[in-house]
Amino acid sequence: MNHRPRKRFGQNFLRDQHVLDRIVAAADLQADDRIMEIGPGLGALTGRLLATGLPVLAVEIDRDLGAALQARTEQNLVVRIGDVLRLDWTELLQDPPYKLIANLPYNISSQILFKVLDHRHAFQRLVLMFQKEVGDRLVATEGTRDYGILSVLMQTWFRIERVVKVPPGAFFPPPKVDSVVLCLEPLPEPRLVLNDEPLFRKLVRGAFAQRRKTLRNSLLGSGWPAEQIDPAFAEAGIDPGRRGETLQIEEFGALANQLSCCRREG
Ligand code: SAM
Repeated sequence: MNHRPRKRFGQNFLRDQHVLDRIVAAADLQADDRIMEIGPGLGALTGRLLATGLPVLAVEIDRDLGAALQARTEQNLVVRIGDVLRLDWTELLQDPPYKLIANLPYNISSQILFKVLDHRHAFQRLVLMFQKEVGDRLVATEGTRDYGILSVLMQTWFRIERVVKVPPGAFFPPPKVDSVVLCLEPLPEPRLVLNDEPLFRKLVRGAFAQRRKTLRNSLLGSGWPAEQIDPAFAEAGIDPGRRGETLQIEEFGALANQLSCCRREG
């Protein structure tokens, strides 16, 4: 297909066969798996996935590429043309669980991860290509520069491993950044038992909203009232003068649970 890559859709097409091999191997595909691919593009990865005979649901925003994929003859391919961030994932993900395998459009990879979190029970494994910096954030631990919202939220529910580093030359056109493939597997037991998951997410966002400030000031700046957070800090045994990036995931969980019970009582 003669297609001029569209920058606005983050189109960097993978052409390195070794990287494709590594992605498919990391997916550890089994006979009854179902696959979701976001951004099949010209179909380099899609072709590999279809060759397994497993059902593949591919979501592509680019109408031209989507139409070319729809013209393919494989019976195990379903193509949905549209913006994956706007489509209804509950309707898309019929008969879960799915393995999500994708070379993601980098400009929306964080938003896709938040969607994944909203629908995490529908996934049994994710093998995803990220811009290296985003990959670093996903695997970062507390006290490091890369540790942030994505690290805490994703590591609460997923075990995350690096599969392979990918240089720009693996793509056409080459992106300006290095890339990395990660494998994310749902933890058999979540790291936290949370009373109120939306509150936990809001807390984590607030804690990293102003990274240079103390945790207390960052939360105040994000609209958390002092009369709610101060008793929660005390009950959870967390020094409000610390910075958000020093908190372990378990400490975020303890603080969130204290906040949820203070709120219930208040
Ligand atoms: N999978 C192909 C490959 O590896 O060669 C293409 C990967 S390319 C980095 C990202 C793909 O995602 C492009 O095909 C692009 O059109 C598509 N895309 C970008 N934004 C999208 C969105 N919001 N919803 C669905 N697909 C999107």
